[in-house]
Amino acid sequence: MGANPKNCSESQLRKVGVEIHCPHTFKLQCVKCGQIWSPNIPSRGSRLHNGYWKCPNGCNG
Ligand SMILES: [Zn+2]
Repeated sequence: MGANPKNCSESQLRKVGVEIHCPHTFKLQCVKCGQIWSPNIPSRGSRLHNGYWKCPNGCNG
């Protein structure tokens, strides 16, 4: 999978098999295995770390 969404738009995430589980706390959920995780968001700025969208179980990594 060559996709690498730089922003957290829902359509981008869906392409890599991820859905936004909770938009308020920005938790993500893997469509494949149902794993829920919250990516670390820096307190300053809106940059997410590289691979924040990857399932901890490696479904889409
Ligand atoms: Zn998964």
